[in-house]
Amino acid sequence: MTDTGSTARLCEEAAANVAQAAAAIDMEPKVRSILARPMNELIINFPVERDSGEYELLQGYRIQHNNVLGPYKGGIRFHPGLDLDEVRALATWMTFKCALLQLPFGGAKGGVAIDPGAFSEAELERVVRRFTHSLGQNIGPEYDIPAPDMGTDARTMGWMKDTYLNSRGPGERQNARRVVTGKPVELGGSLGRDSATGRGAAYALRHLYGELDRTLEGQSAAIQGFGNVGSHAAIAMSELGMKIVAVADVSGVVHDPAGLDIKKLLEHAQDRGGVAGFSPADLLTADEFFALDVDVLVPAALEAQITAANVDSIRARAIVEAANGPITAEASAVLEHGGVHVIPDILANAGGVVVSYYEWVQNKTSDKWSAADVDARLRDAMWEAADRVALTRAARGCSRRQAAYIEAATLLQSVYGLRGIFP
Ligand code: NAD
Repeated sequence: MTDTGSTARLCEEAAANVAQAAAAIDMEPKVRSILARPMNELIINFPVERDSGEYELLQGYRIQHNNVLGPYKGGIRFHPGLDLDEVRALATWMTFKCALLQLPFGGAKGGVAIDPGAFSEAELERVVRRFTHSLGQNIGPEYDIPAPDMGTDARTMGWMKDTYLNSRGPGERQNARRVVTGKPVELGGSLGRDSATGRGAAYALRHLYGELDRTLEGQSAAIQGFGNVGSHAAIAMSELGMKIVAVADVSGVVHDPAGLDIKKLLEHAQDRGGVAGFSPADLLTADEFFALDVDVLVPAALEAQITAANVDSIRARAIVEAANGPITAEASAVLEHGGVHVIPDILANAGGVVVSYYEWVQNKTSDKWSAADVDARLRDAMWEAADRVALTRAARGCSRRQAAYIEAATLLQSVYGLRGIFP
């Protein structure tokens, strides 16, 4: 996101998601007001030395939206246009995502407003270490647990973990390693965490097709974003027999009606830094990409990609919101009216935080689960949540998005009701 007007709108949309669910379940006003705002908001200005020897002052954020269900949990994003409003919206969605999946976590989000591609590896390491140091006691293994998001990865989490551990006494370090999830496996990460968000999205799609009494075999898909989420969604959807006919990333859009070879496309993107130039494929514009006549569209990049401006061109019959907030509220209403099946982000991309939870549990118990075990648990967790969303949708005659928010809000309301509000 690059302009503050659009990030302010994201924040309003997150607030509207919460308000609608609160109204639907007749939520107590005091709970409604607590959920309407983040609990804590941190802005950190910190200096980092560039390779040239000059210092640059960077701005980072950590927003802790709610922790009634457990420690704050949410990703760290590196993106040049990142601002407070965008992080607020993302943190709010995390609270509802964790509640929907019934995880013992609250919601948070953070990041630094930089283009990671414009920093060398050594510079990035200094950014991560200095930002983590500045976060200080505002993160912790039982308090606030970051994870990767757009522009960050397992390596980022490795640096965060190491920096945090170095601020603890030797006797605390073993316990403290679960301060972040999405770590490299060698540093205590979980098998299956890197592919979890993409695989989870594919499981949610399989559930949708089950609801519709249809099979995914031979269905066509177009995927926007070929980073962590988009690439693993593409692999998982191919494994389910789907034909990925188009992939878009920041370098361009590649399209082959016969189906792209995802393995080869991945090698190409890794070598060349993007999908552009892949052969055999034709090049499309972003507008042509969204207008493709495909069965399934998977936005897995940025927010606000399907808007009032392009929603009328959409021909896909189902959309999996693998990214956070890829469809604006206005466009959502048009799609709902047109009978397009939309799997909302707080369900579709929840696989990442589900396996982050598994990583946290494995660290806490000094255990190691097999990749097959993690994947089976992930599938069950996604299907169980999708079942509840489908039941609520049927009972209330509402959209899948509203049903997902109602499910999450019901749990949050009930926990506040049982705990009461101090003092
Ligand atoms: P990533 O940085 O690994 O990849 C982002 C991808 O988006 C890249 O392929 C990039 O080229 C592409 N992209 C960026 N700008 C684009 C543009 N204007 N047009 C087309 N493509 C563009 O990020 P990620 O971790 O895959 O995250 C993607 C989305 O999924 C984000 O919304 C993120 O919040 C969400 N998400 C991620 C996780 C996770 O586990 N990583 C979990 C839940 C949700």
